[in-house]
Amino acid sequence: MFLVTILGSSAAMPTPTRNQTSQIITIENTRFLVDCGDGTFVQILRNGVSTKNLKYIFISHLHTDHFTGLMAFLVCLGMQSRHSPLYIYAPADLEQYINLHLKISQTTLDYEIIFQALPEGKSEVFLETAHFSVQNLPLEHRIKPCNGFLFTKKNPKRTILAEKLPKNLLPKYYIDLQAGIDVKNENDEILFSVEDYTILLPECKYAYCSDTKYNTELLPLIQNVDVLYHEATFLHKDAQKANNTYHSTALEAAQMAQQANAKQLLLGHFSIRYHDSKPFLEEAKSIFPNTYLAEDGVSFEIQLGEREKE
Ligand SMILES: [Zn+2]
Ligand SMILES: [Zn+2]
Repeated sequence: MFLVTILGSSAAMPTPTRNQTSQIITIENTRFLVDCGDGTFVQILRNGVSTKNLKYIFISHLHTDHFTGLMAFLVCLGMQSRHSPLYIYAPADLEQYINLHLKISQTTLDYEIIFQALPEGKSEVFLETAHFSVQNLPLEHRIKPCNGFLFTKKNPKRTILAEKLPKNLLPKYYIDLQAGIDVKNENDEILFSVEDYTILLPECKYAYCSDTKYNTELLPLIQNVDVLYHEATFLHKDAQKANNTYHSTALEAAQMAQQANAKQLLLGHFSIRYHDSKPFLEEAKSIFPNTYLAEDGVSFEIQLGEREKE
């Protein structure tokens, strides 16, 4: 399973239907919270998202609409009887904020917070397991540092082409083939090779890019992603405003998706100056048809893009 659940899709100000930025990413049994605008814990409850498997929180940058929900979130997790450690990856300064807040409110949490500062000024894989990896994406925003995140879901097991194999093959050999081991006879001759009887599915990728101005330097890092989430704070008629405030327009987000050869585009971080989100969709679709709008409470499954399946 590789799922993105939108908890907030508004820019700086929330609206009655759009909270400040936050998303839950689920990769198999692991959950990540990405950004934590005000009211994020309420969104968790409202959308019935379990925090049981939540192990990581990533904060992209320290504009208030991306982290002011964090302290309430951490305290509420404690009230849910959490005991397992929680890893927070964020700009280095956030650690002082968390510690000061806990100190002046005389709050002790029953679980451990393990704080890790994100790499600055460079992109690297900062978290990796057998099932996934996460790489930071340096973004071009007014406040520095600002990072996006590239999530890669790995496919550690090979897929067996069962129709090519004899029906009575022992289960042990299926396990070997899945693990990449050839099936041999007693004379060490290969009977069924990994190469001929299995395939390795490509990795599946989701890139989260909020907040940023149009920045083509990002393209090599997000090339061929299956889904690109890109902020679209403005419509292109306000391109100058977007540029001045280090944000992007819907058209620029679509240009990024096109140039990155992304398979699907998800737009979010909409400014409240626009009362209707349809023009964002129309603008992006004019050059990148496979575009969707982030809506609070909606989940998107990250699947391999069509061209990679062929
Ligand atoms: Zn923002
Ligand atoms: Zn910002």
